[in-house]
Amino acid sequence: MEVVNQIASVRDRLKQNRHKKIGLVPTMGYLHEGHLSLIREAKANCEVVVLSVFVNPLQFGPGEDLSRYPRDLQRDIQVAKEAGADLLFAPSVEEMYPHPPLTQVQVKGLTEPLCGSSRPGHFDGVTTVVAKLLHIVEPDHIYFGQKDAQQAAVIQRMVEDLHFPVHMVTCPTVREEDGLAMSSRNVYLTPEERSQATILYRSLSEGEKLWRQGHWLNSKDIVSFIEDQIQTQPLAKIDYVQVLHFPDLEPVHELTGSTLIVAVAVYFGKTRLIDNMIWN
Ligand code: AMP
Repeated sequence: MEVVNQIASVRDRLKQNRHKKIGLVPTMGYLHEGHLSLIREAKANCEVVVLSVFVNPLQFGPGEDLSRYPRDLQRDIQVAKEAGADLLFAPSVEEMYPHPPLTQVQVKGLTEPLCGSSRPGHFDGVTTVVAKLLHIVEPDHIYFGQKDAQQAAVIQRMVEDLHFPVHMVTCPTVREEDGLAMSSRNVYLTPEERSQATILYRSLSEGEKLWRQGHWLNSKDIVSFIEDQIQTQPLAKIDYVQVLHFPDLEPVHELTGSTLIVAVAVYFGKTRLIDNMIWN
């Protein structure tokens, strides 16, 4: 696996591989098993796997954790190689944004609910950087995690609206043994917060079980149940609990016959965790 920092080097290395199937896995680094599952899936289906590691300032709001976001490029290089990446692209901020971008990509509608309302401008930062990465790498396949379900829905729509010639693959959420969704941000949690944080997974799974048994007739009852569960943990502060149609993220009027996303965002101290499940 080669590590490059410049856009020109990525293009140069891929020039002789254009006849091969290229997969791109965009990340912000500090890799965990969730990221590695995307690399392995890419490796299984593509001949060349490009991993990007870039903490994108454009997707962080004022007061968010940009400066303290965890980073360890040397370890990322090691584990990415073991998982099968062929090229690791780790650009500097100056390389990606030589000047403040006057051009941004914005997906409307889908970016308004859930994390869009708590983190204004976040998805514009995500779609802009992913559009740039798509132009730099020109992959055949691009890989995302279901853990960030709204992000996946937003990028899928951008790909369709802007005719990017890429096939998007969404991979299942990888969890710790006790159910907590893996996230680079989990390292922020104190031991007490870490143990209470399993309530995200537990409340979503318990909710799903009851829903499958036919317990609820409307989405408000689902939200109340999950909120009550989360509030049993004294360190948890709910940002949102929402039930929407998936993947259009429209409000739900009729529970039966719909594909639902049940999504939660919860603060433990300053750490904001998200999780979701798709209920069919
Ligand atoms: P991040 O580095 O957090 O921006 O994530 C990079 C990619 O990895 C995104 O597509 C995420 O959805 C995906 N990802 C992060 N955590 C997980 C997880 N626990 N399981 C599966 N995919 C994940």
